Amino acid sequence: MDNASFADQIQQGCKALGVTVGEDVPPRLHRLMGELLKWNAKVNLTAITAEGEVVEKHFLDSLAVLPEVEGAGSVLDVGAGAGFPGLPLKMARPSLAVTMVDAVGKKVGYLKAVVVVPGLGLAGTKAVHTRAEGKPEAEGLPRADRVIARAFMDLPDWLDLAPAYLAPGGHVVAMLGKAVGEDELRAQAGKRNLKVVSARAYRLPFSGAERQVASFAKAE
Ligand code: SAH
Repeated sequence: MDNASFADQIQQGCKALGVTVGEDVPPRLHRLMGELLKWNAKVNLTAITAEGEVVEKHFLDSLAVLPEVEGAGSVLDVGAGAGFPGLPLKMARPSLAVTMVDAVGKKVGYLKAVVVVPGLGLAGTKAVHTRAEGKPEAEGLPRADRVIARAFMDLPDWLDLAPAYLAPGGHVVAMLGKAVGEDELRAQAGKRNLKVVSARAYRLPFSGAERQVASFAKAE
């Protein structure tokens, strides 16, 4: 895919999702796609390798949660894998302090290499190789304003784990493939002394795939 049609797809997709990114972001995402696919030929990072699918299922799906991240100073992406949603969020909002953590060394090896590639605008992004088990200090992980994960755990397990990493006033963000009803979200939150801050369902712009994102805060 050439740079211009790639940029068109990103900008069109962002428009459909109701999020905005600067003009400098699509060219940098295009280069990130190059790195991802180059590394993926040697190291198994993602099953998604068709360029059109990388655009929608990795990049736009990550950028779709910008509204849930807006206003935060820091993000912890748990089980980041090949860097989703952490890398696109950092590219779109350079002032965010982004830490990605994964339990698999080769994935973290890729993340550490890609964040220092000149021109990607990822400088300062951290990648940590550890198994997140709810003990931030022992694991060398920061507490963050947004603790987020995609395709990592089901909602109950995520709500058990993630609050341990919250900075004061922070939100746990759950990216859900399938919509969970508001009553169920409230019930799952209540069991853990959390409250639902927001929940919204949307579709990916090209495939129409359903998504939901929900945010939670400590109830007290
Ligand atoms: N978030 C990425 C990857 C999802 S796959 C995406 O959406 O594309 C889930 C990832 O979580 C895998 O890379 C796996 O190695 C990692 N993982 C599983 N358990 C973990 C744990 N306890 N701590 C950190 N990473 C973990």
